[in-house]
Amino acid sequence: MTTRDLADLSGPALAATLTPDSIVLLPVGSIEHHGPHLPLATDLIAADQMSARLASAAVDAGLDVWRLPPIAYAKSDEHAWAPGTFWIGADELLATLRSIGRSLASTPARTLVFYNGHGGNTPVLATALRELRRLYGLRTFAMSVAIPSGDGVDGPDERGLGIHGGWGEASLLMHLRPELVDAAQFARAIPPTLADHRHLGFAGASVEFGWLSDDFGFDGVLGDPTGASAGAGERIASGLIADGVEALQEIATFDPAA
Ligand SMILES: [Zn+2]
Repeated sequence: MTTRDLADLSGPALAATLTPDSIVLLPVGSIEHHGPHLPLATDLIAADQMSARLASAAVDAGLDVWRLPPIAYAKSDEHAWAPGTFWIGADELLATLRSIGRSLASTPARTLVFYNGHGGNTPVLATALRELRRLYGLRTFAMSVAIPSGDGVDGPDERGLGIHGGWGEASLLMHLRPELVDAAQFARAIPPTLADHRHLGFAGASVEFGWLSDDFGFDGVLGDPTGASAGAGERIASGLIADGVEALQEIATFDPAA
């Protein structure tokens, strides 16, 4: 048996196969508006396919890594205005993560890693990390499909704003599911002054702001997919897998007290 998908196993086989050293990935996606050029399932496809590749590469590197079925519906209320966004609330996502953690805690595995494809999920995942640590004693981690912004050398200059439907994401989808990408609809969607603020910005800025994806004047896209290519997507994907295997190696031996 070569599968690394936990749900492919029988219950007794799972109980006999998992150990306290096993690392279990939970892909978390979303079904949300990604502009006219990308499918609603973009983040789900990225989390699902990239986590499968990562699990396989990590096993080749000697780690005992498994994968749960992905969560498709997640916290996408920034795109609630757009038809085709199917979202659940932060409370519902947190409750789901808590229940999945509780279920994992009844197996021999002790380590749960969220593998996130949608930035809007990040604060909820961060809350769940601590809840599952405190409630069930699990070792909990969150990593993401960290898609780079185009910087003017690799891809168009997105001024750090390529966060939704931009060059990196469109390229990754052209690599993973080219038949779902409509390159004829690529259009630059970078607000002219948003990146000029010293304090205000997205996650990591000293002042964050509440936003909806139609606040920026570009019908929900923030980024510049022009110039996206399957080749760039392949490079992004292989970089993510290489970094991901390294991260899982750190997770495997991580001891905060050491
Ligand atoms: Zn996305």
